[in-house]
Amino acid sequence: MPVLPSDRNNPYPIAGFYFQGLVYAFSKRIDGNMSLVYGDTKDVILNRKNFLRRLNINYQDLVCAKQVHGSNVVYVTKEDKGKGTLSYQTAICDTDALITDQKGIALAVLTADCLPVFLYDPNTLCIGLVHAGSKSTQRKITTKTLHLMQQRFNVNPQNLYVGFGPCIRKCCYEIKKDFAEYFNYGLFLQDERYHLDLAAINKKELLEAGVREENIFDCQICTSCQSKNFFSYRKEGSSCGRMMSVIMLK
Ligand SMILES: [Zn+2]
Repeated sequence: MPVLPSDRNNPYPIAGFYFQGLVYAFSKRIDGNMSLVYGDTKDVILNRKNFLRRLNINYQDLVCAKQVHGSNVVYVTKEDKGKGTLSYQTAICDTDALITDQKGIALAVLTADCLPVFLYDPNTLCIGLVHAGSKSTQRKITTKTLHLMQQRFNVNPQNLYVGFGPCIRKCCYEIKKDFAEYFNYGLFLQDERYHLDLAAINKKELLEAGVREENIFDCQICTSCQSKNFFSYRKEGSSCGRMMSVIMLK
C-alpha cells in the first residue's frame, strides 16, 4: 500500500477513494508552494520534485495547465508530458480540467481554496482532474469534464468514482450578492451574508449526470478553517501559494 506525503498515518487523503492502479494526492502547506506564478516561487521546482518523488511519479510525466477559472477541458496524451512542469510558459493554455486514458501521465491542478475534483472510472480506465472554483463551477466545468469523458472514453457515469480534495467550505466562503444570483443551489445565508458551498454544487451536478452518491467521496477539509495546513487565498490574499492535486493511472 502506498504511503502518501505528509499523511503517513492516514495513507488515503480522501477516505474511501482508493483504487489499485491509481495514484493521487494533494499537497499541503508543509510541502511548499507548487505554483510557478503565485506566492513565493523560489523553491517551486524542488517542492514539486519532492512531492512527486514520494508518490513515485516522475516529474517529467507531469502535465499542468494555465488555469483561468473557465470551463475548458483538454484531453491529454503522452505528447503533453512535461507541459507546465518546469516553466509556466509551456503549460496547456486556457484550461481548468484535464482528462486522459493513458497510463503514466500525471494530471495536475493547482488550488488555494478552489475545489480539486478527482475522477476515475475503473471500467474504461480513465481519469480526470478539475479545478473547480466558483466561476468554473458556475460554468459547470465538472459536468463538462464528465461529458468529455463520456464522449472520448465511453464512460458510464454509474461506474465513475469521484474524490473531492480540500477547498474553502460554506463555513468560510462568503460571496457578494450579485455573484450569488448566479446560483440556485448551494447558497446559504449566514449573518445576512451569502455563503457558497462549492462541494455541494459540484456533487449535485455529478448526481444529476448519473453518478452514484455512494461513489462520491469528500475529504471535507476547509482550507480556510485549516489554513495552518493548507494555503487559503481568502485568508492570505494574493501572495498566497498553491497546493498541487495530482492523479495518474499507474
Ligand atoms: Zn471553513
